[in-house]
Amino acid sequence: MQDEKRDIKSYTPEELSESFLAMGEKKFRATQVFEWLHKRAVKEFYEMTNLSAELRQTLSEQYHIITLREIKHLTSAQDGTIKFLFALPDDKVIESVFMKYKHGNSVCISSQAGCRMGCRFCASTLGGLERNLTASEMAEQIYRIEELTGEHVSNVVVMGTGEPMDNYDNLIRFLRLITAPEGKGMSIRNITVSTCGIVENIRRFAEEGLPVTLALSLHAPNDEARKRLMPVANRYSLKDVLAACDYYFEKTGRRISYEYSLVAGENDTEAEADALGKLLHGKNCHVNLIPVNPIKERNYRQSSFKNILNFRKRLEKYNINVTIRRELGADIGAACGQLRKSHLDSSGDREKNDRDGEM
Ligand code: SAH
Repeated sequence: MQDEKRDIKSYTPEELSESFLAMGEKKFRATQVFEWLHKRAVKEFYEMTNLSAELRQTLSEQYHIITLREIKHLTSAQDGTIKFLFALPDDKVIESVFMKYKHGNSVCISSQAGCRMGCRFCASTLGGLERNLTASEMAEQIYRIEELTGEHVSNVVVMGTGEPMDNYDNLIRFLRLITAPEGKGMSIRNITVSTCGIVENIRRFAEEGLPVTLALSLHAPNDEARKRLMPVANRYSLKDVLAACDYYFEKTGRRISYEYSLVAGENDTEAEADALGKLLHGKNCHVNLIPVNPIKERNYRQSSFKNILNFRKRLEKYNINVTIRRELGADIGAACGQLRKSHLDSSGDREKNDRDGEM
């Protein structure tokens, strides 16, 4: 479209400065605008009161400020976790989660509307991929949650719906936006990006100078079991995925976090704990055991608590640092994409989603 306005909130400070200089504006004006967008998260140009009325008018003719609209939220009575369902500017729906921890507040954001990775136990992938999120849509999840809760968010995990490494350029741009000192100035150390293991992009990521914590969704100690749970394992062998993670650690010095969702009868035997122990022994890493969150579309069940504890004990024998993920918001459908999925099911998209979900 000819008169399409540009998404100003996706511009990095450098890009904004260049655009302003090209318009004949001073560079510091670009910094002011970046602050309004990323520090104060304003929704309209007229709110930028330290700019002239004329400049605000010009900006509103050339750019728009995208925002997310809250559709609903669910608050956990158990632990105060809040799940938000947001509408994107084109009315696609995503979910984000606000969690309180002792070390600060954390937000789990989505990187795509839907997902095409097809992990068998995951609700987010059932309807397939709708589209990538822009960098501004990723950042907005944090800014709107800060506004809606009145709380400061210090940590971000890119672990919601979507595969961040399948939306690579926007992920990088998003990380540059939220860490820019002119804006929210989030600490790179407080950010985690979780991936199902897209090898070439993990390697590229290691070179970006953005040393966030990388979480790798492992879920099985060998290729056969991994292929049963995660179609992406047909594309990349475990050996290549682990080598890419080692490379990430080498380049960034950040310890990898391996995610392992325990599914009864699928990946939770003692033999599998031993195989995992041998696989990771000697690596500077951390294993996060996640009791699988059953979704109604599949018959997967959680391992028993006894099995989970036993799995941890066996892993620890290999000198591996293990935690069991505390289930936050279990009473509000905490599994990835469950809230979004139930919203889509109930809003008439059901047929379409079921069709897209076939693999
Ligand atoms: N696509 C990325 C990030 C999104 S999923 C990835 O695969 O890592 C975040 C984590 O939750 C992943 O480890 C994923 O495998 C896991 N997960 C998804 N659905 C789950 C469920 N129902 N139960 C337990 N873990 C789940």
